[in-house]
Amino acid sequence: MKIAVAGAGAMGGRVGTQIQKAGYDVTFIDSWLPHVEAVQKHGFEIQTETETYQVDATMIKPEEVNDQYDLVIILTKAMQSVEMLQKLKDKGAITKDTAVLTMMNGLGHDERFKQVVPEEQIYLAVTMWTAGLRGPGKLLLEGVGTVDFQRVDGKESERTREINQVFEDAGLNPTISNQIMQTVWLKAALNSVVNPLCTILDKRIVDFAAYENSREMITPIIREIVEVAAAKGVEVDFDTIVHKIEGSYPVETQGLHHPSMHQDLYSGRLTEVDYLNGQVEEYGQEFGIPTPNNTMLKHLVHQLEMTHVKA
Ligand code: NAD
Repeated sequence: MKIAVAGAGAMGGRVGTQIQKAGYDVTFIDSWLPHVEAVQKHGFEIQTETETYQVDATMIKPEEVNDQYDLVIILTKAMQSVEMLQKLKDKGAITKDTAVLTMMNGLGHDERFKQVVPEEQIYLAVTMWTAGLRGPGKLLLEGVGTVDFQRVDGKESERTREINQVFEDAGLNPTISNQIMQTVWLKAALNSVVNPLCTILDKRIVDFAAYENSREMITPIIREIVEVAAAKGVEVDFDTIVHKIEGSYPVETQGLHHPSMHQDLYSGRLTEVDYLNGQVEEYGQEFGIPTPNNTMLKHLVHQLEMTHVKA
């Protein structure tokens, strides 16, 4: 199987190097030049809990693509994903047999991808793996995780089983899901609550959780998400979301970390808020459901982007 990982930062680097280590032919495609140059010169530098080592990798810019792939894994940030997908399509990297899979956080990726490739070629995945990028070419890979994935049209094919085998071989702990939209919404709910609140408040998750009224703060945000998800035909339960969010509070889980949105913003990069709270707001408008809390969070994060994001 020929595999391309497009958007080869923290998560793309993690997933791609694990798949490559399992013996598959992996090409990394990325647009951030210092990163591309670093990987071309020295490969990825990988730091784990116990060791630091180099892994050779083939990394090219999207303009340089001249091959076709069986599986394209999109792991840009959400705002770069459609442009990347379109470039790969235009370059002939995606044929009618190519599976296009994304593990990006956020909502609506399936709908946007469908405007570029047919639905039966698109797979949505939700991962509990994490990864960090310490600088161009430098990955921080700690902990373990899982990947749930499903073809967007709900059908299972030979290609689905092949992808599952690739992920198995790579030690990514995959599951072929039969309810991926629920899992997508559940993770998006977590990210739509914890990410903007910790970003706006400039707090680690554990410090946010220490406030005795944090449940009262998160409740109206979640209620809106549950209502909008239901209008989209996805049943996500309020208590399940609360349980997931509060499960991320302890120091042993994610507590000591700042969420990724906080890290992006305070290192001067745009956030994915439009694909979380902003997407909830947009769907809400489609169905006439007011989402004042999610709308306000979106605006507050955009205000902060004006202050912190370099031009
Ligand atoms: P990332 O920022 O590490 O990489 C995404 C893209 O941004 C890559 O093309 C990378 O080269 C580029 N980039 C990174 N730093 C840059 C800089 N300083 N200047 C310019 N470009 C830069 O993002 P990620 O963490 O790999 O996330 C990719 C997707 O996966 C997102 O949708 C994210 O929400 C999701 N995700 C991430 C994690 C995680 O732990 N990192 C976990 C689950 C899901």
